[in-house]
Amino acid sequence: MMKTYAIVYKQDHYSKKIAEQLREGLSHQMIYDEDSPELVISVGGDGTMIYSVHKYIEKLETVSFIGIHTGTLGFLTDYQCDECDELIQDILKGEYKTYSRCLLEVSFDSKKVLGMNEVRVENNRRSQVINVYINDDFFETFRGNGLCVSTASGSTAYNKSLGGAVIHSGAGLMQLSEIAGIHHNAYRSLGSSLILDWTHRIRFESSDCDGAILGVDNYVFDLKGETSIDVKLSDRKVRFVQYKRVPFIKRLKRSFLSE
Ligand code: NAP
Repeated sequence: MMKTYAIVYKQDHYSKKIAEQLREGLSHQMIYDEDSPELVISVGGDGTMIYSVHKYIEKLETVSFIGIHTGTLGFLTDYQCDECDELIQDILKGEYKTYSRCLLEVSFDSKKVLGMNEVRVENNRRSQVINVYINDDFFETFRGNGLCVSTASGSTAYNKSLGGAVIHSGAGLMQLSEIAGIHHNAYRSLGSSLILDWTHRIRFESSDCDGAILGVDNYVFDLKGETSIDVKLSDRKVRFVQYKRVPFIKRLKRSFLSE
């Protein structure tokens, strides 16, 4: 059984109540340690899970994550809000497996940032021109609102709204999707999503990024002028605890197809 834990909860009354219930149930046998937890329990939705991962991004090698759902979607969370007692019992029983999710590593402007869902260059003020290089070879010139590179975990997030494919969460793949690309006789880019493995690196180059932003999950950076952005699958991963098996297809159906 893990000895230390921390709780990250969505800032609403209900999530706070669930967090208190969890703390009460776990406090006799585990130590609450905000700085160095072995287990981080995320109470909220996928947005809260993404926030939790970023909060502990420097400690990914020693931290594992589990989620309880009080948000609107909850694709990344294993427990529903009425399963709080079950989660407490499972944590205290201490029998679990772990699995990992891939992250993206984005380098730009002498910065290095990790993303769990996606990296996107977006410009809503004017059409953005981006030269795309794959492993240093020129691939295409894109014109439109922007480009998005998502992980398998992020394939059900922004990428899905762009018409990209849903990828099984365990796959070490990244997906390049267009955001409102312009396609006609003069301007041509692939149009469909492109799925690549860890042997590939994607580079976006633009001579003018004024007005554009670089979005990494829920973080936003302003871009200016000539810009070069490198994206690849990171060597670092996020470890999740699995106390009970929630098959990927069941998760998908529950989140996107059930009424
Ligand atoms: P947010 O309000 O935290 O999230 C927006 C929606 O995306 C929520 O319904 C959230 O689910 C869902 N979501 C987040 N990660 C997901 C995942 N891996 N799989 C399935 N659904 C997921 O928005 P934010 O703080 O601005 O950005 C966080 C993430 O939200 C971004 O990385 C982006 O992928 C996603 N987003 C998507 C769109 C879109 O599809 N058009 C627009 C904005 C942001 P919960 O309700 O369970 O939290």
